[in-house]
Amino acid sequence: MSAFDPTKPRSSTLGLKVLVLTACLAILSVEAWRDWSGRSQEMARISTETLNRAKSLTQHVQDSLEVADTLLVDVVDRIETGGIGPTAMLRLDSFLVERIQSLQRIKSLTIYGEDGLLMSSSLPGHRSKIDARDQPFFQYHSAISRADWYLGPLIHDPLGGEWVVTLSRRVNKPDGSFGGVAQASIPPRYFANFFGRFDVGAQGILALFHADGTLLSRYPYLERAIGALAVNEPWFKDGKASGIYEYTSSIDGVTRIGGYQRNHIFPIGVLSAVGRDEALARWNSMFAIRIVATGLLVTTIAILGWRFAGELRRRETAETELAVLARTDGLTSLANRRTLDERLETEWLRAAREKAPVSLLMIDVDRFKAYNDIYGHQAGDECLRTIANTIANAARRPSDVVARYGGEELAVLLPGLNEIDAVTVAEKIRSKVEALCMLHEANVPCRILTVSIGSATRVPSLDRSRIGPKDLITLADAALYEAKQGGRNRIAVAKTA
Ligand code: GH3
Ligand code: MG
Ligand code: MG
Repeated sequence: MSAFDPTKPRSSTLGLKVLVLTACLAILSVEAWRDWSGRSQEMARISTETLNRAKSLTQHVQDSLEVADTLLVDVVDRIETGGIGPTAMLRLDSFLVERIQSLQRIKSLTIYGEDGLLMSSSLPGHRSKIDARDQPFFQYHSAISRADWYLGPLIHDPLGGEWVVTLSRRVNKPDGSFGGVAQASIPPRYFANFFGRFDVGAQGILALFHADGTLLSRYPYLERAIGALAVNEPWFKDGKASGIYEYTSSIDGVTRIGGYQRNHIFPIGVLSAVGRDEALARWNSMFAIRIVATGLLVTTIAILGWRFAGELRRRETAETELAVLARTDGLTSLANRRTLDERLETEWLRAAREKAPVSLLMIDVDRFKAYNDIYGHQAGDECLRTIANTIANAARRPSDVVARYGGEELAVLLPGLNEIDAVTVAEKIRSKVEALCMLHEANVPCRILTVSIGSATRVPSLDRSRIGPKDLITLADAALYEAKQGGRNRIAVAKTA
């Protein structure tokens, strides 16, 4: 293993990616919440709108019925005070025609005698020809002596055949007994036409119901639907005076949002409904635009964030490589002198605390100048690399540091090793280099490449005035000089202090 252990790159890219993801998730969450609450608000707005429409239409129906009732009160009063003699009837005929002309909402006003036969009508030509005995309004008034109005169920107009809503009042004889019925007919189409002034979209409906559940009229007008029973619809089952309902129509399968309002005077109620999808269409298209815009924003942030993270990673890797290069020797890939100095300083302090020894080997190639001279500088470089590898393989503990100290001089820092163990490592290095058997003609007498090693071991003291890490280098250097002087290819040990 190389004695130099470069610091691993500490990448910020993960942090940046987490930040980008968090930002994207935050944007998506805020947008989802905004859309969800926006949709709820839109639904509430639509609901309120439909209910308000139902309220105003119910009021309009009430007004129409009250106008008809006012007329009936007037007619009943005329009969009860003026009697039903031929002259009175003639006057009544023209009165009815006259009054009805100005009221387009009422189709006809008709008076039936106690026998059920038509006595007078705003539609002339029916006298005594029409018998109303079977009609609900006649049966009601003949059976019940109350003077109130009666809003009957939907019937086919006895005068004309088409559907009409009937409002009627009882006519009393002077003695209070049943004298006949005054009845107004309002065609469902009238309500449908009036409802048609309101815009409820292509999927919307406006419907007028009798309290018994019968559909009295609707917009869009649909003849076959008039008279249908709606007792199973939610607004009927609910029984409340007013409410908002989301329901799917059993007729056309359209899901609608409807506001239903019952009238507190007449037994009627109005449903105002709009197609849910149609009503939400504008919101939905805005939602789609927002989704696309948010998607683009999030994608852009994610792409830019990822690119930036990649860039950051490359920069960090380059910086780490530079840092490694700054601490490494280019020729041998060993630690350089600066790194050795730093590590020696660190290990020195550690050993001082632990009262452990620190050993240093200084290694110098024997007669290397001559090697260069004979074999060339390039061969000299190759030779240095081989020796560096050999030394690195001989000092493999994680704490060992093998460095190129300068020129053809190498150093091995052996923290924790005592003098004997350091000499053992030195001997291992010396013999391994020798065992390479690399030809070196000038290195007499052996004529192969050899190294000389100076070994120094000290137990450092925290008191720097006594001995410091630099002194260990000096000691090892001195021992190396001794080894050279002693004949080379050998180890010399610095004297113990
Ligand atoms: P000795 O140490 O045995 O006393 O003799 P020496 O010839 O090795 O002594 P000296 O220290 O004077 O010479 C060192 C030589 O190492 C000088 C130089 O040519 C050579 N040298 C130093 N650095 C390099 C290098 O990076 N590459 C090569 N090829 N040679 C180098
Ligand atoms: Mg030298
Ligand atoms: Mg040398």
